[in-house]
Amino acid sequence: MRIPLFAANWKMHKTVRETIAYVREFGSIARAAANVELVIAPPFTALAAAVEAVRGLPIEVAAQDVFFEREGAFTGEVSAPMLHDLGVSYVIIGHSERRRLFGETDEWVTRKLGAALGAGLEAIVCIGETLAEREQGRTLEVLDRQLTTALESATPDQIATLVIAYEPVWAIGTGRNATPEQAGEAHRHIRGRLGERYGAPVADQCRILYGGSVKPDNIRALAERPDVDGALVGGASLNPQEFGEIVRRASGS
Ligand code: PEP
Repeated sequence: MRIPLFAANWKMHKTVRETIAYVREFGSIARAAANVELVIAPPFTALAAAVEAVRGLPIEVAAQDVFFEREGAFTGEVSAPMLHDLGVSYVIIGHSERRRLFGETDEWVTRKLGAALGAGLEAIVCIGETLAEREQGRTLEVLDRQLTTALESATPDQIATLVIAYEPVWAIGTGRNATPEQAGEAHRHIRGRLGERYGAPVADQCRILYGGSVKPDNIRALAERPDVDGALVGGASLNPQEFGEIVRRASGS
């Protein structure tokens, strides 16, 4: 059985002090949430404080990015072993903002995933089509390309424990979420492809999150889709009460 996962992508928000205050408030919400996995992804500068603050709480910490080299002359970058050493559990890879604003390619996503898995981190790999690609009827083709390239060097065992986030680019930070039907179709397609390539047990175990303008009032219908295993939440995760409400409504409580 797949345990639903809710991940809060804070993007470039929150200082160390704000991170500690958030965890203090979200901690009691997390304790009350049964049968879900909860992850927060603060900016790099607050990761150490977050790891310390979540000690004893059912909350895990993710980095928002990672570089694929172990160490070296790569000014500004952070490696997977460094994140692992800090106590970080997850890393988000291939977010559309990284692809769009920082020129991240499918090939880099593959290498980053290899580095993350090699260092013992769990990965949330983001894929999703732009509005133009959707309007041209190329959504599933784009998902296939991104998925195939990203997973090129991962083993079936690694893929089974991987988290994939379907995030249509046109829905991220726009207030316009995919309909449950659109999300359902994309998630079913992704799981189908995983099944064809790596076998049904791998596809059944791999969690696929939806991301893109998730809010308390739209999560329920999305989470009801059989292949939607939780959500990657940006803007609405910045407030611990709102993020908690998303988790609560998704589980129907
Ligand atoms: C995201 O950053 O992954 C995201 C889905 O953002 P938002 O929820 O704000 O659309």
